[in-house]
Amino acid sequence: MDADLAELKRRIPLLEYLRRRHWTAQRVGAQQEFVGLCPLHQETRPSFYVNARKNLFYCHGCGRGGDLIRFVELERQLSFSQSVAQLQQEWLSAPTTHLLEHTVAFYQRQLPLHPEAMKYLRQRALGNAELLTELQVGYAPGGNLRLHLTSLGYSFARLLQTGLINNQGRDAFYRRVIFPCRQQGQIINLYGRSIGAAFPHRFLPRSRGGLFAWDSVARYPKVILVEGLFDLAVLWQYGLRNSTCAFGKQLTPIQFAQLCEGPDRLVYIAFDQDENQAGQQAACALAHRLQTAGVAARIVQLPAGHDPNSYSSRGATSADFAALLEQAQPL
Ligand SMILES: [Zn+2]
Repeated sequence: MDADLAELKRRIPLLEYLRRRHWTAQRVGAQQEFVGLCPLHQETRPSFYVNARKNLFYCHGCGRGGDLIRFVELERQLSFSQSVAQLQQEWLSAPTTHLLEHTVAFYQRQLPLHPEAMKYLRQRALGNAELLTELQVGYAPGGNLRLHLTSLGYSFARLLQTGLINNQGRDAFYRRVIFPCRQQGQIINLYGRSIGAAFPHRFLPRSRGGLFAWDSVARYPKVILVEGLFDLAVLWQYGLRNSTCAFGKQLTPIQFAQLCEGPDRLVYIAFDQDENQAGQQAACALAHRLQTAGVAARIVQLPAGHDPNSYSSRGATSADFAALLEQAQPL
């Protein structure tokens, strides 16, 4: 099972969720089982059972059952991914979101002060200052985030626990370009791309949420799915605001569910053209899964060895990308 979902359900036990919503129940026997009136249908005799050990519910009256997320889907008439997003927002994120907002604002101020970061972005074909501002791209030069955040009242332990700094008090994102990942307006994680020799990708040790910028991309019937944020940024620069990314080739169940929502969806998959065929194989597998789920998919063939970012860095224009989309084929 997806680690994010498991973590969400562990941190919000179903019984606790129901009790906070004023569900009253009686324990059944000596077991971790509880029964009360069903919150999902009208009844006078209790037939709604919750097993606290298994973290599941079942109603003998209306015949519905499942886990926390299923309950929220039924209770609020939301889709699977909307339910997950709402739970994350309501229960998990508020204090950390403020901390991450301060961090992102700080890193944004650092970016123009550090020519090595600006040079790196230009080499990656990301020179559009307006877009960098819109995406709130920043830079972690290292050394001073801790001072800044502790001056705002955050404890060392808190910063360590969030993963923003290491044991020595240094920035975990040292010498990285930073992109905030938002969900329903709130920052839920940070993506850091190394401008030096360190491992290129880094996130905070917490949920990455669903597809990037899905709040704005979901309204487009046609969406372009790329692997990375640098790919997404060049497509946005071309005006292709219907582009989103999954932070890799493997979609989480939440991300897959998002792609499947909405009528008449068409997904253009623009994964990397890898020499070892990894991107091509992942694109085919995903197109197949989408088609099985009733969603139309087309595979975009980039030139050999390229991803959207490297293709753009080599001088490709928006017309070149439009032509690739035009030529994209179903499986
Ligand atoms: Zn019921």
